[in-house]
Amino acid sequence: MKERRFETEAVHVGYDSKDHLGSLSTPIYQTSTFTFDSAEQGERRFAGEEEGYIYSRLGNPTVTALQERIARLENGEAGLAFATGMAAVSATLIKLTKANEHILCSQGLYGCTFGLLSILDEKYNIKSDYISMETEDQIREHILPETSVIYVETPINPTMKVIDLEMVARVAKEYEIPVVVDNTFSSPYLQRPIDLGCDIVIHSATKYIGGHGDVVAGLVVGKEDFISDMAMTTQKDIGGQMSPFDAWLLLRGIKTLSLRMERHSQTAETIVERLKAHQNVERVYYPFDPDNPDYHIAKKQMRLGAGVIAFEVKGGKKEAQEFLNHLSFLKIAVSLGDAETIIQHPATMTHAVVPEESREKMGISNTLIRMSCGLEAWEDIWADLEQSLDKIKTAEANVLD
Ligand SMILES: *Cc1c(COP(=O)(O)O)cnc(C)c1O
Repeated sequence: MKERRFETEAVHVGYDSKDHLGSLSTPIYQTSTFTFDSAEQGERRFAGEEEGYIYSRLGNPTVTALQERIARLENGEAGLAFATGMAAVSATLIKLTKANEHILCSQGLYGCTFGLLSILDEKYNIKSDYISMETEDQIREHILPETSVIYVETPINPTMKVIDLEMVARVAKEYEIPVVVDNTFSSPYLQRPIDLGCDIVIHSATKYIGGHGDVVAGLVVGKEDFISDMAMTTQKDIGGQMSPFDAWLLLRGIKTLSLRMERHSQTAETIVERLKAHQNVERVYYPFDPDNPDYHIAKKQMRLGAGVIAFEVKGGKKEAQEFLNHLSFLKIAVSLGDAETIIQHPATMTHAVVPEESREKMGISNTLIRMSCGLEAWEDIWADLEQSLDKIKTAEANVLD
């Protein structure tokens, strides 16, 4: 059948009510195991001679529907679902590396991914390097004979630097090294790394894919061989599978992904303009802000800028915390991509484990605030931000008083 558009696939792919007694919503197959009609059928299933379910750690129909859907939306061949984003990241990196190999990473990775890479180093001598990935030459200089993965996050959390995925993929092809992209901050509606030449896409589905702040989950998309092999090795034998109920929540969330991403992005663009004009805001970071040095790359590879904004308030840590405490209905919380606008202070929350010196190098100052724009009316979001920003008493403002 002719390929349908993203919005249509997001509602339909991977599920047909005809196969499920007409149930419009995907049934939740809340079962640990599946019965066989005969001993011989059990034998055939285990031998891989007959398609069918055996046990939910090896596959479950609700989870399968989700895997097919995310694969299509990322324009990949197959998908695999995990209990958390970190289960997806760890299964992928364990699958792709052997002891004594090397992983080349973009700078400013998600904190727990950084933690996982430290474990791989300690236990298996798998070393990692972290570079800005700004030019082809810089990437080439850091590729070693033992490099087995190039691992990229873009836009980078929380400074919103953007890496040119097409460029990274081009260099990686020369060396036949797979490129893995953590696409959590964009979702497939805004950015499709496989279309740009990358090999494997990972999501913390906890964020935009779920979209409602009610599930922790992970997804991986890649070539059929890679995914089926991972399902039967690092997933089957290590674990970390997604539950059928969580798959159902994600199937539901994905149906509105395009609508939500449009709204999150529009709101963010509107709020960015206003933040930039506020006297108590020092600096704003957003991929689709024309003043962002990576604006042209963002425009080239992303449909819209998504909902996450970072900004520095004037003053110091005290003023940043004061700003959060004065918010009236906007919530202080980590995570992103939910219907609720959530705001946090990276230096003391998501990036508190990073030593201050490294934090500063990453551009995470004590006055940096990260905000995930929700689905509320932008006027209300701005009104709350503005009243709270107005209350910040910086030393500078005090002099003027
Ligand atoms: C949240 C997040 C993860 C980890 O996902 P969990 O679902 O919390 O395990 C990985 N990468 C990025 C970019 C994230 O934001």
